[in-house]
Amino acid sequence: MAQLSDDCFAFGGALLGVDAALALIRERVVPVVEAETAPLAAASGRILARDLVAGFDVPPHPNSAVDGFAVTHADLLPDRETVLPVTGRAAAGHPLGQAMRRGEAVRIFTGAPMPDGADTVMMQEDCVFEDGRVRLKPGIKLGANRRHAGEDVVKGSVALPAGRRLKPADLGLAAALGCDTLPVFRPLRAALLSTGDEVCEPGTILAAGKIYDANRAMLAALLHGLGVVVDDLGIRPDRAAALADTLAAASEEHDLIVTSGGVSTGEEDHVRAAIEKLGRLDFWRLAIKPGRPVALGQIKAGQVRGVPLIGLPGNPVAAALTFAILARPLILRLAGAAMAPPLTFPVQAGFAYRKKAGRREYLRASLVRDGAAVTAQKYPKDGAGILSSIVQSDGFVILDESVTGLTPGDTVDFLPFSEVFA
Ligand code: AMP
Ligand code: MG
Repeated sequence: MAQLSDDCFAFGGALLGVDAALALIRERVVPVVEAETAPLAAASGRILARDLVAGFDVPPHPNSAVDGFAVTHADLLPDRETVLPVTGRAAAGHPLGQAMRRGEAVRIFTGAPMPDGADTVMMQEDCVFEDGRVRLKPGIKLGANRRHAGEDVVKGSVALPAGRRLKPADLGLAAALGCDTLPVFRPLRAALLSTGDEVCEPGTILAAGKIYDANRAMLAALLHGLGVVVDDLGIRPDRAAALADTLAAASEEHDLIVTSGGVSTGEEDHVRAAIEKLGRLDFWRLAIKPGRPVALGQIKAGQVRGVPLIGLPGNPVAAALTFAILARPLILRLAGAAMAPPLTFPVQAGFAYRKKAGRREYLRASLVRDGAAVTAQKYPKDGAGILSSIVQSDGFVILDESVTGLTPGDTVDFLPFSEVFA
C-alpha cells in the first residue's frame, strides 16, 4: 500500500481556488489500493490497474461486413455488368480454406474471413445469382464492405489505459481481446458518518428542534457510485472526545473517512478538533459558492498508514457540491483512477445574475431545449440547505472566478449532474 505524505493536504494560502485544489490532489495524493484480479463479469465499475495491451489485432482477420459475394475488384468491368462463376463459400467461423482465384467469386456472409485474393464484397441485394454464376453491377469501390484486420484495435496498442473505470463497452473490448479476467484495484473502504446533535435517523420519531439526516443516504449513494465499499457509522453527537474515539477506531479498518457537518468554526464544530487531536488537519477554504470550508486531514498522519479524512460541510447542497468538486477527484485518485475532468458543455443562460469576482459559483439549473439552442434556467432558490434545488435541476452552471455577471443569452459552461452524481 502506498503511503500519503504527512503534509499531502497542506497548502499555504487563505483561500484556495478550485483548480489549485485539484492540482494539489493530482500532485500529492497517491493511490492507496493494491491490484487484484477480477473476473470480467465482476469488473464493471472497477478501476483498471494496468494498461491492457492488445496481444493481437481485433478483428483478427479481414472479414466481410455484409452478406454477398467476395470478388477481386480488378476483375470487375467499370461500365457494365460482370458475370463471374461462384466457386466457393465462406461463412462466419468457416473460412474458405484456400485462395480465391482471379476471375472467380465466392459466396460470403457477414463476419466470414475474406478469402485470400478477394478485396471487395458486393452486397447480395446488388447481385443476381443463378446457375452457379453471379451478375455484379458496375460501380462498386475497391475495398467496399471489407473490414480490415486490426481496424478496431491494432496489436501492441493500449486498448484500455490503467486508471480507467471500466464501463460495459470496455468489458466487451477486453473480452474481444480474449481476457476472462482483468487486473483491477481493490475497492476503497470508506467509513461514513454524520455529525450533529440535531441530526436524527430517518424512520425514528422527530423530536422538537431535530432534523433527519439527509447527507448520509446521499453520500453513501455517491460513494457506492464511485465503487467505494461503505461502512455506515451512523450519526455522531457534537462531542469532541467521543468523535475522536470514533475516528480513531474507524481509521483502523478503512482507507478513508468521510464525515459531514461540524467543520465550520463554531463552538459546536468538533470534527476539526477531533482530527487535530488524532493527526493532522488541513483546512481548505475553497473559493467556491455554495460551499464552506472543507476539512481535509489524516488520522495517524506520519505513521505507516495515515488515513485521509474528508470533512464535508453539513448543509446538504454544500455537501453535495464539495463532494462533486473535491471529494470525488480525491477518492478517484486514492482508488487508482485517472482524474479526468468531468465533461462540461456550453449552453445559453436563460437568466440574469450578479456575482462577486474571485470565487467560482455553481448555480443549480435545468436545461430547456429551444430549437437548436439549449438554455439553462436557474433554480429560483440558492440556499445551501435547499436539496430540492438539486433534485429539480439537471446540473450546475459554472461561473468562473473572473465572471461578475450574466445577462440572458450569454454562453455559460454547464456541468451535468450525471457527470458527478452518478
Ligand atoms: P454544520 O456544518 O454542522 O454547521 O451544519 C450546517 C447546517 O447543515 C446546519 O443547518 C445543520 O443542521 C445542517 N446539517 C448538518 N448535517 C446534516 C445532515 N446530515 N442532514 C441534513 N442537514 C444537516
Ligand atoms: Mg453541526
